[in-house]
Amino acid sequence: MGKILDYDEMNKILDNLDCKVIKKEKPIGYTYFGYPISHYVYGHGKYHVIITAGTHSSELISNVFLIRFMEKLCNKEVYIDENLYTIHFIPIVNPEGTIIVTSAIRSLIPRNISDEEEQTYCLTYYRNSYIEGYYANKYGDRDYKLQQMMFRYATTNILSDEHKLLKDYLNQLFKENDLPMGCMINWSSNGRGVDLNSNIECGSFVDRVESGEEIYASLHLNNIKRNKLGPLGCPYFSKKGEIEKENESLFRFYNEIKEKYDLIGSLIYHSCGNIIYYLGEDDKKNPWVKLNNKEKKSNYEVAKVYADKTGYKLDGKEIYTTMDSKLKSLFPVTLLIELGGVRATPLSQFMDFDLDGGSDAFKRIYSRIINDNTLAILDTLPVMREKYIDRME
Ligand SMILES: [Zn+2]
Repeated sequence: MGKILDYDEMNKILDNLDCKVIKKEKPIGYTYFGYPISHYVYGHGKYHVIITAGTHSSELISNVFLIRFMEKLCNKEVYIDENLYTIHFIPIVNPEGTIIVTSAIRSLIPRNISDEEEQTYCLTYYRNSYIEGYYANKYGDRDYKLQQMMFRYATTNILSDEHKLLKDYLNQLFKENDLPMGCMINWSSNGRGVDLNSNIECGSFVDRVESGEEIYASLHLNNIKRNKLGPLGCPYFSKKGEIEKENESLFRFYNEIKEKYDLIGSLIYHSCGNIIYYLGEDDKKNPWVKLNNKEKKSNYEVAKVYADKTGYKLDGKEIYTTMDSKLKSLFPVTLLIELGGVRATPLSQFMDFDLDGGSDAFKRIYSRIINDNTLAILDTLPVMREKYIDRME
């Protein structure tokens, strides 16, 4: 069996988790097309932590990693002190996007496929994306993309009638915005075509979008426009400052936990780059809050523990143009973790080759993401707690 999980498979695993260990709570909210943003809780300790994945749905490894982590907690493969911590899991922040991207995957790669076959699809996708990145750089080519052409039959027709509202809307959007063939495989936005991380009052593209400028994504995705509703990058639906339901729900949820309990920190999973973003020294004025030195220091110190376990790079600079930067600002210690160094989401991070003499960059990508980050969470929590107690003194 392969490693990729589609939306229904994810929910099946989540529904089957031992509810004595991880309990399903009521959703933190619903998306525009009515999908629940599910919330699960482990433990009942004083110190609360929020862990989310899949803001960008094409970064599928983040959902899969977090769901596998929850499963390990349930199977007692790993242990977190349930009397000390309460862990809130939001494993699918962007359900509509996850439905779109995993439906596209399933249009070509079936569920009951052998591991070897799945690996070759992931490798092909990676290499095709790489070739397109190379052509984009060398020739400025915005033509058909090999990796999208692999999924050119992933049209809105592949969505079942269970998703009728979403399907009808997307049909319209593909026509109106002339979205590239096969681009459902690159879907990072929510179902309305808004990029949730860019969906913030001070997003980096807002002014340029407002002025009507055409902005393209880069490299192998350079045939996708960021200034229009679509697979990625578009900061708002119809007007500047309009916040999507997923972000509203998430923000309300963070606030609620912070008000009621001791929220010691949060982890936000993206992919990829092998980078941990934390709030460090200010390059620019933080529009939401002024972090004190103790907070900045604990951001770094917690991020450092995570980095030591994974070998990921640390990045403390922030330009405050994303939803996640707002969460990082208002809820210390929040880390944004970019899983897996090989680019070309959603499939490349599922590669798990171990070839003789193979370079480190390609060695056991999937297994290392899963294993290293599992250990990193376990090591990071105690330091998160220690630093929180320190700050509160
Ligand atoms: Zn991302």
